[in-house]
Amino acid sequence: MKNFDPKYNALPKTEIHCHIEGAIRTQTILDAARQGGVALPSYQADELDRHVKIREQMRDLQTVLEAFDIFQRSIVSPAIFERIDWELFEDCAAQNIKIFEARFSPDWAFHKHNLDWDACLEGLLRAQERAEKEFDMAIGLIAITSRSMGADSCVRTTEWAIKNRQHIQAVDLADGEMIYPMEDFVKPILKARDAGLKVTIHSGEDAPADYVLKTIQNFKPQRIGHGIHSADDMKVVEKIIEEGITLEVNPWSNYLTNSVPTIEAHPLKKLFDLGVRVTINSDDPEVLDTNLNNEYRIAREVLGMSLADIQTCNRFAFEASFIDSAKTRPIWEKYFANSN
Ligand SMILES: [Zn+2]
Repeated sequence: MKNFDPKYNALPKTEIHCHIEGAIRTQTILDAARQGGVALPSYQADELDRHVKIREQMRDLQTVLEAFDIFQRSIVSPAIFERIDWELFEDCAAQNIKIFEARFSPDWAFHKHNLDWDACLEGLLRAQERAEKEFDMAIGLIAITSRSMGADSCVRTTEWAIKNRQHIQAVDLADGEMIYPMEDFVKPILKARDAGLKVTIHSGEDAPADYVLKTIQNFKPQRIGHGIHSADDMKVVEKIIEEGITLEVNPWSNYLTNSVPTIEAHPLKKLFDLGVRVTINSDDPEVLDTNLNNEYRIAREVLGMSLADIQTCNRFAFEASFIDSAKTRPIWEKYFANSN
């Protein structure tokens, strides 16, 4: 559930793992459906919430990915995408998030309504510029290539990210990693890396620790999305520390997708105590009905991290941010320096 406890809300925050497609407000889904003629299971906001918000632990990751269908069909025009982006940045500002990286998968997000990727990016850049000014925050962008969209899509997406690298800082590989062979995606991701883009890979979310090891060997990523199952194998933990890789951890998401059996069993604190550079994020705040305040509440009240530990995670996120430090450093010094 979304949390606005002042004890967490007042903290300046850095978030580096958040999917735009998982951050669409229910009212925006309703308005988009009206504009785009999209069929919905209900046209009442609270009734629709029962279909678009995951509030109980699911059987597996795949079930959750299926629930994204309505979100995907809601992106009916570049104008709606711009509104979604702006509202996400507004929601960040309401929680005092000052450094924020938004990620999206253009092929997955835009193919249902055959939208022009460049037109959607233009709207996103307008929303980004406005939010950076109005909310005094630094925003970065990550282009995702979805494993479920296939190897050709990975080539298209990484080429597009390279073409737009003055706006897009990094590429990411997402979706269930045990279903699609890793080898299909190595070449295009490494090409993007060679072109100067940073790399983060969803790995070790529901898959065991050896996937994380293979991900590190194949992609040489600066960061890993989730990576929580590395906690099951000290060899992998040591490798992550040795390579200086930062983990983008999303506690409530991992519970809902059944990647951890209970929220109490989440290894965030364990990884932190072992010396891994972990960060705390919300993943898909609207689909999962969470926000960063709620993730901090879990870290503090369920997993037993101190507020100082959480601030250290913020520093890890700042240090691992893909946004140019010329943009993040002044924000860090202005808002975070005193609270660290
Ligand atoms: Zn994710």
